[in-house]
Amino acid sequence: MSTELKAELQTAVEHRRNFAIISHPDAGKTTLTEKLLLYGGAIHEAGAVKARRAQRKATSDWMAMEQQRGISITSTVLQFAYRNRQINLLDTPGHQDFSEDTYRTLAAADNAVMLVDAAKGLEPQTRKLFEVCRMRSLPIFTFMNKMDRPAREPLELLDEIEQELGLQTYAVNWPIGMGDRFKGVFDRRLRQIHLFERTAHGSKEAGDTVIDLGDSRIEKLLDQDLYYQLKEELELIEGIGPDLDLELVHQGQMTPVFFGSAMTNFGVKLFLDAFLEYAMQPEAYKSTEGEMPPTYPDFSGFVFKLQANMDPKHRDRVAFVRVCTGRFDKDMTVNHARTGKTVRLSRPQKLFAQGRESLDVAYPGDVIGLNNPGVFAIGDTIYNGKRLEYEGIPCFSPELFAYLKNPNPSKFKQFHKGVTELREEGAIQIMYSVDESKRDPILAAVGQLQFEVVQFRLQNEYGVETLLDMLPYSVARWVAGGWQALEKAGRLFNTAVVKDNWGRPVLLFKNEWNLQQVIGDHPELQLNATAPVA
Ligand code: GDP
Repeated sequence: MSTELKAELQTAVEHRRNFAIISHPDAGKTTLTEKLLLYGGAIHEAGAVKARRAQRKATSDWMAMEQQRGISITSTVLQFAYRNRQINLLDTPGHQDFSEDTYRTLAAADNAVMLVDAAKGLEPQTRKLFEVCRMRSLPIFTFMNKMDRPAREPLELLDEIEQELGLQTYAVNWPIGMGDRFKGVFDRRLRQIHLFERTAHGSKEAGDTVIDLGDSRIEKLLDQDLYYQLKEELELIEGIGPDLDLELVHQGQMTPVFFGSAMTNFGVKLFLDAFLEYAMQPEAYKSTEGEMPPTYPDFSGFVFKLQANMDPKHRDRVAFVRVCTGRFDKDMTVNHARTGKTVRLSRPQKLFAQGRESLDVAYPGDVIGLNNPGVFAIGDTIYNGKRLEYEGIPCFSPELFAYLKNPNPSKFKQFHKGVTELREEGAIQIMYSVDESKRDPILAAVGQLQFEVVQFRLQNEYGVETLLDMLPYSVARWVAGGWQALEKAGRLFNTAVVKDNWGRPVLLFKNEWNLQQVIGDHPELQLNATAPVA
């Protein structure tokens, strides 16, 4: 390889940090993202994104932001520069947008920021997303948000993470007070106290006063009880807690924890600075040719998300590709591993970049949006040079199930075609009853929006009106060893057996409790929440 290209890739990789935020609705993801953009200089004044929210329907926060600011943002990646680093923030759709895409986005991320509402602690959606991060051993950085409100005790919050997620914690900063008396944090990296100043609604960067722990001014600046409390708590965590071990962090076994308040900007900059220092740079991805280091000279990447334009006037689809190796150049021609065809990557869409119309080059850790004339499916690999294929993206455990019915027999063909294409595209999972007389496909989704999208698109793109018949299940498990293993297990109580698109058995349960019962009764059955790539 040319030494110039090698050096160029090396520099690009060293400067890139890519991450996704995992959180439960209302923890403050929109607010934190906006503040990160503020500090990153990508926007100059935060605010008003939420005011637009009411207008938002099945679009992401970024589309609302896009309309409001007149800048072009794809709902998938925000790219900004901060301190000599190129940061890619992968948007994980949440709320009513929650879908399998939320999980898939994590397949393209190198790091995850786990955002927790400090009054609530861990919540269900965060736990689910954490499990997906764990599958990939992603480094997790925890931001305990809303410290300006009455919160749970910091030690208790750390304990919950350790106990429930089995992650070691290392508090990088420690809060001084909480609620109305949240005065600042102690930064353990530089051993300094940061006392924050409030700005109008946190719309500008927060100012702070930085003093050393031993500085005598502290007595004047901080209430005595808070000062003593801080000293006491510090002694405790520094006495019993482990040291920060970056290797463990990068293996996803230890999480650096930060306390702050996204709304008032408290602690956001400290978080961003430390995150950039500790986060993992783009790493190797597993492929049929082994681990592919990002500095491998030939371009390669995989599709992790497809987005159909919901506006029927523009039927474009965009395939989002995570660049894994080499350099992407505009108008490049690449090989498409699944079909063996060559594809010209025309019109790559830009990310959240400053005033650029389209993307000219991209490096490992970046995401490119490609105009997708129906060639791409989730998990597809594109490459130059030696043939290779990345591992693909598993099917994630659906939690909502419904029969999809076509009441109009004359539309059977379009119905079938639409369902097949939407499944191939990854918009929804399809399962079937094992009872041959029940031919209607079962839609299986992780979020309600997926049903709406499928019905909307069937009508708009295929001219088929459909009916949904909800099924009373909320948990799905694939059976390791397939039908044979299932048969051996004998009768299962409170379980429905269906088959997935590849004919593999899937067990559906009304609730977690029924699943646990079956696990208890049949310890020999191995049940998996995700299906291997078919
Ligand atoms: P998302 O659903 O995770 O995107 O959460 P949002 O960013 O929309 O925040 C949900 C609510 O929490 C909004 O009313 C925010 O103003 C509020 N919020 C977010 N961060 C903070 C914070 O640090 N402190 C307080 N008090 N409220 C916050």
